[in-house]
Amino acid sequence: MTPEISQPQRFSRMTFLGTGTSTGIPVIGCCCSVCQSPDPRNKRLRSSILLETEDITVLVDSGPDLRMQALRAGINKVDAVLYTHGHMDHVVGFDELRAFCWDRDDPLPLYANPGCMEILKTMFAWAFADTNVYRGYVKPWPVVFEGPFNLGSLRVTPLPVIHGAVQTSGFLFERDGMKSLAYIPDVKQIPPQTMELIRGCDCLILDTLHFRNHPTHLSMDESLALIEQAGVSRAYLVHCSHEIDHEVLENILPATIRVAYDSLCLQL
Ligand SMILES: [Zn+2]
Ligand SMILES: [Zn+2]
Ligand SMILES: [Zn+2]
Repeated sequence: MTPEISQPQRFSRMTFLGTGTSTGIPVIGCCCSVCQSPDPRNKRLRSSILLETEDITVLVDSGPDLRMQALRAGINKVDAVLYTHGHMDHVVGFDELRAFCWDRDDPLPLYANPGCMEILKTMFAWAFADTNVYRGYVKPWPVVFEGPFNLGSLRVTPLPVIHGAVQTSGFLFERDGMKSLAYIPDVKQIPPQTMELIRGCDCLILDTLHFRNHPTHLSMDESLALIEQAGVSRAYLVHCSHEIDHEVLENILPATIRVAYDSLCLQL
């Protein structure tokens, strides 16, 4: 009789660690109805997600709220960090990555586009220096991506997008050849080649700052038009400002488009 070999159960889970714009919501000192709202879905830490499968845990961005986000979500390991771009609200929690390095023998893989890696190396030069030899410090294994790469059972395709002057990438996550998730938290324009990559994806997470126009972020109308163009099954809006009240907006959106909120978890 052949002994039964137990296979680890397959799963893919995504958690919104934060869904707010660079200020976080509530905004310091603001008395508006959203900042004062008792609805927990109107409390937004800076945008970041965690992706977990049975074989790998991937953090996207390390913003200023990483410590609170990790405590709230009970994150006890991170195998790799992907960076979308080098703006403060996506990188400045870098030092909190120490929590995932105490027991690590190997350097922590950090994936970034060339522009973002340069910013990381400038801002956190101590971590990248040869003198960084003490156990427990963030010892990065920098990977500058130009095209798709594999992380465990995930296929990750960087999605170049336009977001002001800073080189910015979203990410497409595929598993078993299925386009499961595209994450684009900071964007003003999606170039045609990137639109082709996300077309037909199951779930798109997209920047929607507020209703008004903005030079480097999508407005509501722009975001809804891109979601339609992408032909995705469902979409979640993120990187929202305090001009968006969760319930008010959801009531006017189609059922397939939802406003993301902190700690929301999706099975993919
Ligand atoms: Zn941002
Ligand atoms: Zn406010
Ligand atoms: Zn940005």
